Amino acid sequence: MTDMILLKEGEVVLKGLNKRSFEQKLTSNLRRRIKRFGPFTVTANQSVIYVEPQSEDCDVDGAFETLQKVFGIMTLTRAAACEKDPEAIAKKAAAYLHDELSAAKTFKVESRRGDKSFPMTSVQLSQYVGGALDDAFPNLTADMHDPELTVHLEVRDRAAYIHGAPVPGAGGLPVGTAGAAVSLLSGGIDSPVSTWMMAKRGMRILPVHFFSFPYTSELAKQKVLDLAKILVPWCGRMTVQVVPFTHIQEEIRAKCPEDYFTIIMRRMMMRIASAIAEKDRCGAIITGESLGQVASQTMEAMAATEDCAGVPVLRPLVGMDKKEVIAVARHIGTFDTSILPYEDCCTVFTPRHPCTHPKLRKVREAEAGLDVEPLVAEALAGIEYVKIGY
Ligand code: ATP
Ligand code: MG
Repeated sequence: MTDMILLKEGEVVLKGLNKRSFEQKLTSNLRRRIKRFGPFTVTANQSVIYVEPQSEDCDVDGAFETLQKVFGIMTLTRAAACEKDPEAIAKKAAAYLHDELSAAKTFKVESRRGDKSFPMTSVQLSQYVGGALDDAFPNLTADMHDPELTVHLEVRDRAAYIHGAPVPGAGGLPVGTAGAAVSLLSGGIDSPVSTWMMAKRGMRILPVHFFSFPYTSELAKQKVLDLAKILVPWCGRMTVQVVPFTHIQEEIRAKCPEDYFTIIMRRMMMRIASAIAEKDRCGAIITGESLGQVASQTMEAMAATEDCAGVPVLRPLVGMDKKEVIAVARHIGTFDTSILPYEDCCTVFTPRHPCTHPKLRKVREAEAGLDVEPLVAEALAGIEYVKIGY
């Protein structure tokens, strides 16, 4: 007999009439994520999702760990399986919850009976197991109204189950319920965090990386793919689009005033990202910008780049301090990879005196020498698609 996993839905339950479609998205995401751990059934009932192994070979530990990264889940509970016999259930409960039962003063038992052929009603089972635990733990008194500890039992088709303590889930909304977005993924600390934050709000993510070979190395590109790989357990499978950016940067260097290099480069990124958004039906572009962090992240600089965007630009980090961003990066597991010392295309051809408060008119003038459309078309034609799986 193998343990099962119970999941409590998060904000999904607030969605009223849309609840059904949210729930369907969530359960299909769950099924896809745990497929590789063996055959499980995933069923939702009253905002609880039952994840039940259908074979002794199922890797429940692996599934439990993986499910902690699925958005839309508030808590996860592992439930120990045992034979569907009242005495066996009482014994297993005493052993499985030994520490909790020893520490509590008051308790109650709550049972749910999915298998209606079980010989006791749920009330009878609760009373039976409650009595046995009361005898086994002298420190305990039954309290039906405000118990310190509630022991949950479930009688299901394959087995009976005793709930352990719940652990926090990833929260947020199921990926895919809020549409899709192009996410600009550099190798830095910020953009993996901004990507994660919008996936958490239910967006399906299409990562885009601008690559300036040979000014930036294969290692820099590999680092971005490694970051995407770390994000996949949260975001689901993704295809990274690697956009050749070298020719554009060389053209900017040859034809535009140096003080505007960075801002014009970022405008080119926005144009290409917008074209990708249109081709792949994405409703937004995500960046890791944070107000005032660097010269190109002042309000005027953001306005000058946004000028070239065809869809809304989402900047979930805009009001965060670096310290706060780093805390999230550590939590999601991207930090150690992000700080590996490979250069980004933004640090190639950095102007000595970047323009921090650019006037839109001046920027447009500075860019006038560029053949924008052919450059964008050339970059789009050269995109390399890299699939990142689990
Ligand atoms: P990060 O830590 O995410 O690299 P940053 O603080 O270094 O951000 P910038 O270099 O100004 O800031 O980049 C701002 C945003 O532009 C990044 O967060 C990212 O979304 C996007 N970006 C920058 N460089 C690239 C790149 N080579 N490919 C894709 N997106 C990029
Ligand atoms: Mg960067």
